Amino acid sequence: MIVGQGLAGSLLAYFLLKRGQSIHIFDNNHQGASSKVAAGLMNPITGRRFVKSWMIDDLFPFAEKTYRSIEKEFDVEIYKKREILRALFNIKEENSWDERSGIDSYEPYMNSAPEATGVAALFKGPFSWGGLPGAGQVDVPLLLQTFQVHFREKDLLDNEAFQYDALGFGETGVNYKGIQAKKIIFCEGHQARFNPWFSVLPFVPSKGEMLQITLPVHDLKNIVKHKSYIAPLPNQTYWIGSTYEWNDLTESPSEKGRESLVNALDKMMAVPYKVVNHLAAIRPTVKDRRPFIGEHPDNNSLLIFNGLGTKGTSLGPYWANEFCDHLLNGKELLSEVNIARFF
Ligand SMILES: Cc1cc2nc3c(=O)[nH]c(=O)nc-3n(C[C@H](O)[C@H](O)[C@H](O)COP(=O)(O)OP(=O)(O)OC[C@H]3O[C@@H](n4cnc5c(N)ncnc54)[C@H](O)[C@@H]3O)c2cc1C
Repeated sequence: MIVGQGLAGSLLAYFLLKRGQSIHIFDNNHQGASSKVAAGLMNPITGRRFVKSWMIDDLFPFAEKTYRSIEKEFDVEIYKKREILRALFNIKEENSWDERSGIDSYEPYMNSAPEATGVAALFKGPFSWGGLPGAGQVDVPLLLQTFQVHFREKDLLDNEAFQYDALGFGETGVNYKGIQAKKIIFCEGHQARFNPWFSVLPFVPSKGEMLQITLPVHDLKNIVKHKSYIAPLPNQTYWIGSTYEWNDLTESPSEKGRESLVNALDKMMAVPYKVVNHLAAIRPTVKDRRPFIGEHPDNNSLLIFNGLGTKGTSLGPYWANEFCDHLLNGKELLSEVNIARFF
């Protein structure tokens, strides 16, 4: 049994089915799902100091391979390789960019002289641009919808809230409303904070808000990181985001969030734009920024796959597959992701 059909639950279900397992999923219709508002960016180099993301040399190739397989299997376009153009605001930033991109292990991901002429005209001039040719973008809402249709067709998905107090425990596993299973895996995103068995884990959820805009006169194909990210979405709209907020964990968009995003837009866009949508969700961010994977210490029928934080698209495929290897072939989980680290 899998609870949650966001990015985590969908990918886990996909790999379990590939390995011939029988599964059943419960999802309360993506209520508050972080996956529904994500831009789906896969960014190999982040932060002010331009550092490679954790395990990126393993995560990226595996994620790309997985999204390409899903595209083929379901005849959908969900993954685009898209260079990120990063605005560099002064000579110091440009020097650090050049320094980093000269390091052998950074070389495949960074470009010191990207082609930015067409794009630059849309933005209020930074000092220069750096390029991240290894980046990509996943259409996460389409991925979820594709899987939802597939799981429903196979009668593997019930769109209802899972009731914890209806879960029964037996000698060989768990039972829920007439369904028997060896294991139940909770993939509930930030809502795992309310899960009676896993709420003790150190979740540090963060609310994120985004705007959807149109650019009436221009067509932008790259992802750009300037004062904020701007990334192409379907139907000639663009994703702008996102904010980080740790105190207000309501799922609705706020005036404060909108203001901060519009401020960033005004500082970066040299062309007119129109806001057409404003959404918010809570990310399943965690204290040590590593996924939460593994068995409950008191009952190995209860498991969790969570903590994908701000990087679900790059982390999800690799760790869903590793988790399957652990469940089905006994492969040990890396201690950095195993929830045993907290018990
Ligand atoms: C504004 C914003 C921008 C982001 N941008 C990016 C990005 O560019 N790139 C990137 O990689 N990541 C991004 N993320 C993060 C990304 O969204 C997450 O890493 C990922 O989607 C988490 O997936 P999940 O399946 O763990 O959680 P969720 O997407 O929250 O899914 C959990 C699912 O479980 C269901 N559920 C929960 N509890 C129950 C229950 N009791 N019963 C039944 N169903 C239940 C929910 O309905 C939901 O469908 C962004 C997040 C936000 C908020």
